[in-house]
Amino acid sequence: KCLSCLKSSLLTLLTVVGVLAGVALGFILKTTSNTSWSSRQVMYVNFLGDLFLRMLKSLILPLIVSSLISAIANLDLSLSGRIARRAILFYLTTTFCSVVLGMILVVSIQPGKGSKDQEEGTHTALRNVTTVDTLLDLVRNMVPNNLIQACTQQYRTVLVEPDEYVDDIYKWNVSSEMVDGMNILGLVVFSAITGVALARLQDEGKALANFFQSVMSTMMTITRWVIWLSPVGICFLVAAKIVEMESLDVLLGKLGMYFITVTVGLLIQGFIVLPALYLIMTRHNPFSYVSNLGQALATAFGTASSSATLPVAIKCLEEKNHIDPRVARFCLPIGVTINMDGTALYEAVAAIFIAQIRGVDLSIGNLVAISITATAASIGAAGIPQAGLVTMVMVLDTVGLPAEDVSLILAVDWILDRFRTTINVMGDAIGAGIVYYLSKKDLEKLDAKNAQES
Ligand code: ASP
Repeated sequence: KCLSCLKSSLLTLLTVVGVLAGVALGFILKTTSNTSWSSRQVMYVNFLGDLFLRMLKSLILPLIVSSLISAIANLDLSLSGRIARRAILFYLTTTFCSVVLGMILVVSIQPGKGSKDQEEGTHTALRNVTTVDTLLDLVRNMVPNNLIQACTQQYRTVLVEPDEYVDDIYKWNVSSEMVDGMNILGLVVFSAITGVALARLQDEGKALANFFQSVMSTMMTITRWVIWLSPVGICFLVAAKIVEMESLDVLLGKLGMYFITVTVGLLIQGFIVLPALYLIMTRHNPFSYVSNLGQALATAFGTASSSATLPVAIKCLEEKNHIDPRVARFCLPIGVTINMDGTALYEAVAAIFIAQIRGVDLSIGNLVAISITATAASIGAAGIPQAGLVTMVMVLDTVGLPAEDVSLILAVDWILDRFRTTINVMGDAIGAGIVYYLSKKDLEKLDAKNAQES
C-alpha cells in the first residue's frame, strides 16, 4: 500500500513538473526561432501530447456509459434518487454562485471601459442564433434518437444563408443540424435511465449490470496505464500551445484587465468558495482533499477538456480521497457534463466585458438575464477545449450583441480555457466529495441490508 502511495505521489509530482517543463520548453522554442512557427512545426511539437489526449479521449465513451449504469444499478432506487438530487442541487447552486461572483467582479473592475480604442455603438443582432434556439438544442441533445450517432454527433442550431434578401437585410434562417462532437449529455441521460431500469429489474438485470461493472473496471485499469504518460503528454501539449501563441502584447490593454478579472474570479471560486463549502459541509480539511486531486487538475490544465480528464478524476477520487465508487462513478460523469463553475464565471464576465467595450449600458434586468443564460450556457457547453466560446453566443444574444463579437476575446481564450477547465474539474470533484459525505450513512445502511440478505 505504501509503495502504491509513493508511486502515485511521484506521478503527481512528475505531472506538475511536466506542466512547468512544458511552459519552459514552449518559451525556449519560441524565443530561439526568429520566424513564427508554421502549423506543421506546431503539429510536430504537439505530437506526443496529441497521442496522450487521444488515449484519454478513447476512454470517455466506455467510461461514462459503464460508470453511470453500474453505479446506479448497484444502488437502491430511492438512494440513487437522493444522491442525484444532492449532486444536481450542489452543482447548480455552485454554478450560479460562480456566475454571480464573476458579475460582481466585472461590474466593479470594469475591464472594458476606458479610452475608445474599439469600434463602439450598439449592434443589432441580425445574424444570431437566439437564446431559445440554444436552449432547445440542449433539451434536444438530452433525447438522442440514435445512440450510435450520439457517440459522434450532436444537435446544434446553425445559421442558414437566406435564398433572398429583403430590403438588403440579411434575414438569416436557422436549422437544427447534426454537427461533429460526442453528445455526452444524451449518453449520460440514456445511461442513467438504463441504470434505473436495471436496478428496478433486480435479478433479471444482474447480468447486464455485472457486464457494465466489468467494463468499468477494465477502463479504470487502462486509465492507470495511460496516466503514466501524462507528464510527457501534458508537457508537449502545453509547449505546443505556447509556441503557437501570439505575442503577449495583447495583454497590455483592456484584454489584460479582462484576463485578470476572469483569473481572479476563478481563483476565488477554486481556492475560497469551493473549499469553504467543503469545510462547512464535511468538517474535513479541504486543502488535503484538493491536493489529492493534483493529478486530475494538472490533466485538466494540460488538456483543457474536463471530459478527457474524467478517467483521471475518477481515479483520484476513489484511490486518493477514498470516495465510495458508487458515488464517484455516479456524480463525476454528471458533473463533467452539467457542472462547469469556471465556464459559467467566464461566460458572464466575457459577455459583460464585450458589452462594456461596445458601450452597451446594462440594466438590472439585463444582468439577471445574463446570470441565467450564463448558467444555462455552461450546462450546455461540452467538456472539450473552448466549448464555452460556442455557447457564449447565447449569452451575447440576451443583450443584443452579435455572435461575431466573441472575436474580441479570442486572443486570450486558449489560456483562460485551461484555467477554467481546472476549476470545472475541481467543482465536480468537490461536489462528489460533499455528496459522498452526505450520503455516507445511507450507503452504510444499504451495505448492511445487502449483507443481511446474502
Ligand atoms: N474546456 C472547458 C471544459 O472542458 C469547457 C469550456 O469552458 O470551454 O471544461
